[in-house]
Amino acid sequence: MTARPILPGGTLGIFGGGQLGRMLVLVAKRLGYRAEVFSPDAGSPAGSVADAEHVFPYTDLGAVAAFARRVHVVTLEFENVPVTALEAAAIYAPVRPGWQALYTAQNRLREKTFLTKHGLPTAAFRPVRSAADLEPALQELGFPAVLKTVGFGYDGKGQRVVRTLAEAQAALPELGGECILEAFVDFAAELSVVGARGDDGTFMHFAVAENRHRKHILDVSLAPADVSVPVAERAASLTRTVMETLGVVGVFCVEFFLTRDGTLLVNELAPRPHNSGHLTIEACGVSQFEAQLRAVCGLPLALPPQRPAATVNLLGDLWGEGTPNWTVVLAEPAVTLHLYGKAEARPGRKMGHLTAVAETPRAAAELALSARRALGGAWARGE
Ligand code: AMP
Repeated sequence: MTARPILPGGTLGIFGGGQLGRMLVLVAKRLGYRAEVFSPDAGSPAGSVADAEHVFPYTDLGAVAAFARRVHVVTLEFENVPVTALEAAAIYAPVRPGWQALYTAQNRLREKTFLTKHGLPTAAFRPVRSAADLEPALQELGFPAVLKTVGFGYDGKGQRVVRTLAEAQAALPELGGECILEAFVDFAAELSVVGARGDDGTFMHFAVAENRHRKHILDVSLAPADVSVPVAERAASLTRTVMETLGVVGVFCVEFFLTRDGTLLVNELAPRPHNSGHLTIEACGVSQFEAQLRAVCGLPLALPPQRPAATVNLLGDLWGEGTPNWTVVLAEPAVTLHLYGKAEARPGRKMGHLTAVAETPRAAAELALSARRALGGAWARGE
């Protein structure tokens, strides 16, 4: 705990207006805090439930300074906030996590270089700064490989699996800019750990989640993942090492590949709460959002035990055949509906999620998936 925690009644400042910020604001309000959101978009999911919404670009450092002056601590729900904005805010309020964590996570090449430098396992990778780098990199890594842009990639955007040199040469200009080539990992499962760390170094983590993607976008998360105790312990300890090395205060997620021989490779870092941690709202007395609030405000992190649960995402595709029939999920007592208040339902856009709590994570996933199917339409049926 900090010497002087920020207690209820204090004001939390949040960079970013998306659903992660919305769920953080809702927790902050329950605990008697004020919450103000800084986001370039008016009427954002977080801004529309906050005490104040500051609508400016992140490059408006005067507006950032004015925002930071109004709050007791600044945190974030979006990792692509420019480092200059964090530095401008840090003059007036503690910024948690600090710019180092963001700077590292904002660029896949920096991220993987950082991990390797500290002895943390990743897929083999090579920088690709121009077309000339492709052939030697592919020779070293082999086929297939994954070509990714270094920046602003999420939900599988800005990446291609390449099976020949010609495919890689064609993909490079389409992806645009600096890229990273990664060896393709034939994983047995994708896992993630959400950790929380206080400024006194206290570390806590939620149960390891197993994540299943559909078209590169997270579809289903269940926790605790069905992995051995040594794998779960190693995932937690790698998460702790990453957070300690980056000096993170707040909540942070590490995504892993579990290879078929039981090795964990770090795939991605998220310096904020994570989609795979949404199930903690129902599964744990202290959710990932409350853990973030507690960590950045210097409050005790004590996380209670976590029940088996699963989350399934509701993407804009679900609206393809009209407004979903919410009454069918509301009639299912083991399933909780979350909607993010986004006005426009576009395909691939995260609009909400369902969480189910059950005797086992697998049973919870079945419940949540069956509730989603009941909402109707081809996408909900998994087609
Ligand atoms: P990312 O945006 O890097 O998290 O990638 C999105 C998804 O693409 C991951 O969750 C994986 O399912 C897949 N993916 C990314 N990198 C690799 C890789 N090196 N090998 C195999 N699959 C990958």
